[in-house]
Amino acid sequence: MNVAAPQPGFKARTDSALANPTLKVAIDRTTGTAERKRAAAVAAFPEFGAARARGKQIKDHVIAHLDHYLETFERNAIASGSKVHWASSADEATAIVVRICTDAGARRVTRAKSMLGEEIGLPHALAAAGIERVETDLAEHIIQLAGETPSHIIWPAMHRTREQVAELFKAGHHPPPAAEDPASMVQSARRELRAKFLGADVGISGANFLVADTGSICTVTNEGNAELTTTPPPVHIVTAGIEKLVPSTAHAFALLRLLVRSATGGELTQYTTFHCGPKRPDDADGPDEMHIVLVDNGRSRMLSDEFREMLRCIRCGACMNHCVVYRQIGGHAYGGVYPGPMGAVLTPVLAGLEKSRDLPFACTMNGRCAEVCPVGIPLPTLLRAWRGRSWRATLEPRATRYGISLWASVARRPRLYRLASGLGVRMLRLLGRGGWIASLPLAGAWTKHRDFPSPSGRTFMELYQADRNRTAVPGESRP
Ligand code: SF4
Repeated sequence: MNVAAPQPGFKARTDSALANPTLKVAIDRTTGTAERKRAAAVAAFPEFGAARARGKQIKDHVIAHLDHYLETFERNAIASGSKVHWASSADEATAIVVRICTDAGARRVTRAKSMLGEEIGLPHALAAAGIERVETDLAEHIIQLAGETPSHIIWPAMHRTREQVAELFKAGHHPPPAAEDPASMVQSARRELRAKFLGADVGISGANFLVADTGSICTVTNEGNAELTTTPPPVHIVTAGIEKLVPSTAHAFALLRLLVRSATGGELTQYTTFHCGPKRPDDADGPDEMHIVLVDNGRSRMLSDEFREMLRCIRCGACMNHCVVYRQIGGHAYGGVYPGPMGAVLTPVLAGLEKSRDLPFACTMNGRCAEVCPVGIPLPTLLRAWRGRSWRATLEPRATRYGISLWASVARRPRLYRLASGLGVRMLRLLGRGGWIASLPLAGAWTKHRDFPSPSGRTFMELYQADRNRTAVPGESRP
């Protein structure tokens, strides 16, 4: 399962990301634009708050009745001519997909962007089976040329600048683009991919929604590549997590209003398609076979634990666009398929806390992710829950545990706490130069990449005391 890279570790990946100024430029450009566009889209949609409450209600209802909707979906998908497969793990899911491809004699598959496909390690499984994989989403095409994994769930190549993409296209396209402007590069990618679309034996897509009462799957894209992936080849395979279910098409549209605004700031994607079974006798085109692989991979385990609310996630990416940590280090530093705050909650579920212990700590707890999440997932609360588990499982380094225990012991003694914090503030003031501290004992990881602000003015306790003295009523005793 391709969910967490063991080497190098999180801190080394973070160091390398912070030392890369080009990466910072690329991240700032995309997340800054996404943040502005989302804010404008929400401002222009006065019902956003109500739509958000409705979205949360829909997802909670489906999660509470998952067994019912899964059975309804399966029944209706089969009635529409699709074949439904169940996979409890990533390995099972990839084995099913590879078997369908092999049975179809597939040598080349086209693939529309799917984070679930990345989660189960489908690219590796196809390569191991000797099947050529062609990524058809423009950003996925870029990272396939670069031999990389996605760094964002909506913009997988957001870590690449236009200049870097031009270099990749020059080396990977035959013939290379006529010029380096965006229009010429897009034209070149279109030419390169068009021939592959028409020569594919199998098309693989994900699903933004699984619609229970029709047994159809909904895909949304802005490039139309999902339609070109799923229609010309004789076989269409869908891989989808079981949490993607919605009761009906109306519910899918209720969530789409949130998804698109939160992801790209648009009102609707350019292409919204409901795929309902294979080609019928009077259809002009479409696949002869449609297979839907329903993937659990830890989701039903989440149903009964404190991370259940994470199953509401509609993969919009807003939490990472607004995350101060993601915006400094980018997606690859997280080491898993899902980056940012949602990834820091999900990766420990998928890969185990031991392998991803650092992620829940890569958070300032400023709460912006929860504020912008269109389905109200309390991400900081869930991250705190992982921190608690990490502490109880004694996964922190010994020095960290001693440090926290010492702090907790001092914090429980108000006089000692005031004395220690007062001394600490004085020491920090002595170390400061021009309002900043360039190097701090025991905080080298912080000061390696940025200066620490030197304390200025009075401490909180001094201000508090002064306020109490100012407002004290003569003769009144205060605790
Ligand atoms: S956690 Fe919320 S904001 Fe983040 S991707 Fe999921 S739905 Fe979007």
